[in-house]
Amino acid sequence: ACSDGDEEQVSGAEVIAQALKTQDVEYMFGIVGIPVTEIAVAAQKMGIRYVGMRNEQAACYAASAIGYLTGRPGVCLVVSGPGLIHALGGMANANMNCWPLIVIGGSSERSQETMGAFQEFPQAVRSSIYGRPGACYVDIPADFVNLQVNVNSVRYMECCMPPPVSMAETSAICMAATVIRNAKKPLLIIGKGAAYARAEEGIRKLVERCKLPFLPTPMGKGVIPDNHPNCVAAARSRALQFADVIVLFGARLNWILHFGLPPRYQPDVKFIQVDICAEELGNNVKPAVTLLGDINAVTKQLLEQFDKTPWQYPPESSWWKTLREKMKSNEAASKELASQKSLPMNYYTVFYHVQEQLPRDCFVVSEGANTMDIGRTVLQNYLPRHRLDAGTFGTMGVGLGFAIAAALLAKARNTGQRVICVEGDSAFGFSGMEVETICRYNLPIILLVVNNNGIYQGFDVDSWKEMLKFGDATTVAPPVCLLPNSHYEQVMTAFGGKGYFVQTPEELQKSLRESLADTTAPSLINIMIEPQATRKAQDFHWLTRSKV
Ligand code: ADP
Ligand code: MG
Repeated sequence: ACSDGDEEQVSGAEVIAQALKTQDVEYMFGIVGIPVTEIAVAAQKMGIRYVGMRNEQAACYAASAIGYLTGRPGVCLVVSGPGLIHALGGMANANMNCWPLIVIGGSSERSQETMGAFQEFPQAVRSSIYGRPGACYVDIPADFVNLQVNVNSVRYMECCMPPPVSMAETSAICMAATVIRNAKKPLLIIGKGAAYARAEEGIRKLVERCKLPFLPTPMGKGVIPDNHPNCVAAARSRALQFADVIVLFGARLNWILHFGLPPRYQPDVKFIQVDICAEELGNNVKPAVTLLGDINAVTKQLLEQFDKTPWQYPPESSWWKTLREKMKSNEAASKELASQKSLPMNYYTVFYHVQEQLPRDCFVVSEGANTMDIGRTVLQNYLPRHRLDAGTFGTMGVGLGFAIAAALLAKARNTGQRVICVEGDSAFGFSGMEVETICRYNLPIILLVVNNNGIYQGFDVDSWKEMLKFGDATTVAPPVCLLPNSHYEQVMTAFGGKGYFVQTPEELQKSLRESLADTTAPSLINIMIEPQATRKAQDFHWLTRSKV
């Protein structure tokens, strides 16, 4: 702000920054350029943390993870044209995940008579967090940024209140309780909507009071700890296939849950849907009961119902027996694979060693195909909102942005929590240059690149060389292949972090121990695995490429 006689002047950029600050925005990610540089400068002066990233897409991923983890939107700042286009991937991903996000883009100059765009900010915040959370975009005309206005002529909207809480109809709650009580094979599914809603306490009470089996979706992991005795994640397919009543807490019946349809489910399974979004109810299946409302509030309503007339699902039921047996045999099968001594290592060996050292309170970020699918079954989450992955959109390239967001929060909260980012080699490539961002802000993230030289699978060095005898790589290399034995760890050492190239379980253990011991610096462990390694055999042939 500069003074012009008695009239204090503020620039458009400062107005934007103040409007964001008033809305409790704490983080801004982006890449500056004309016309948005001044906005970043003003935001930083205002006390908003500004994180300069290397690609708008990753910046958008980071900002949306802040939204998911805190319930208030993070901001992504981009230039017009290509900057905004790059951000579209992040906006689409946030929308698919139902995560709040505000993208601010500069646009071209506008004529004088359309002034006043700053008044749209509070609406942006509100529409990003009210109802089903999602992304919104605010367009800032270039000449607005440097425009000087009298400070007294600017009015800021008050900080937007948290979303109003809605409850389900009482009759629907009664009906849901009745359906649950009459279930022979009940199952609760806990989705990332439950995590976002911070419903962990209520859902845990419901699970324990009614002794119900539950299954977390990928990012629903940790709402109740993975090692809870009622967690049937290790018998996932079995649980879905034979349950007769399924309660969905903030999980959509999309591809992640096989659309709720046979053959993955019983044709007459009764779904009880809990969701804040009315449009979601009845999507793909005809639910037995719909509970439209906030998960936290609806769970409390259900608990009250079971308080009035206490009920427990019998722990000696054949359903529990089936689930327990299946869990046992599935766990034994993965342990067996993990214990294999052959080199290069397989996925299970890698993840078992990682799991052994994983701090209980860490954030696990993960993306990739097999890396993410298998990793999820072995790596445990004990806290809600501590797993971030490719999500509803199955987006590759989100990992580093998510890891940066989580590490910033851990730092700000002073919890000493670590962020472990488990990446496939292909997935890592999408946003690999964000390693520079990680090093610039000195975030002690541990990046694991599980490297099979390709997308799904690749070639070893010898096969690659052999193949090139038959022609140029563009004509003979399988499209899934990436350059074998790429030294991704050198991307980290290039910027002063620690890099490890590991080929054996011992090297993996040692590098992980060192990385965890160093709480001040980032590291990248490039883990060479068998290029043709795949998942363990699945019961269902249609599970060749896992969905969850
Ligand atoms: P997952 O991928 O874990 O299955 P989804 O993203 O498919 O989860 O589903 C999350 C659902 O949670 C969305 O349909 C969204 O509308 C819903 N949701 C988000 N926040 C709340 C809330 N506070 N109360 C109820 N439902 C919510
Ligand atoms: Mg790979």
